[in-house]
Amino acid sequence: MTRIGTAAFSDSYVVEAVAQILAAGTLPDIIQCGNPVLRAQAVEYTGQLSDADLAELISLMRRTMLAAPGVGLAAPQIGIPLQLAVLEDLYEIPQESAVARNREHLEFLAILNPRYMPLGSQREAHYEGCLSVSGWQAVVERHASIELTYDGEFGSREVRKFSGWQARIVQHETDHLEGTLYVDKALMRSLSSTGEYLTHWAHPDISAARIGLNF
Ligand code: ZN
Repeated sequence: MTRIGTAAFSDSYVVEAVAQILAAGTLPDIIQCGNPVLRAQAVEYTGQLSDADLAELISLMRRTMLAAPGVGLAAPQIGIPLQLAVLEDLYEIPQESAVARNREHLEFLAILNPRYMPLGSQREAHYEGCLSVSGWQAVVERHASIELTYDGEFGSREVRKFSGWQARIVQHETDHLEGTLYVDKALMRSLSSTGEYLTHWAHPDISAARIGLNF
């Protein structure tokens, strides 16, 4: 989808940005909301990078995600307007939270040119945050199950189903690639600073927050 007023990035811009970030030799800063790169439609990956540079970029994104720490990172979040995201969720969390959020471990995955479709009409509402909206959390209602179509790192076309927390991560990261942030979809009355969230609303489910914040 093309958005009026949003700058379109070219292939050459992407290639140059990747060259710079790989040459820097350090983990990149995570770009914060307000930067236009987070609001642009990312460029489709059509082989603009060498296999070695793509592998190196994916590795850099994974290390940046894990250092943050986070469970997903989209290329625009490090200033690369390319349809690429990395996902991994191997954190140990309390059993009660894992059950309430339908949260199961997700092995590392790199996705190119992803598109998702809902499977069924069930939706789930939970607090989530974003490395590019640092310091805030809000409730987002998302599809409980989706089918994701994407290109793998080595060019294969893949179709995979996700549900629960995994589906949430996939939707969040795929949305980044068309310039959508979770706050665009959030129930804004639920918006909490991370400090207030940890004090009041860090429960397995959102029922207390619904009452306390009237959403
Ligand atoms: Zn995000």
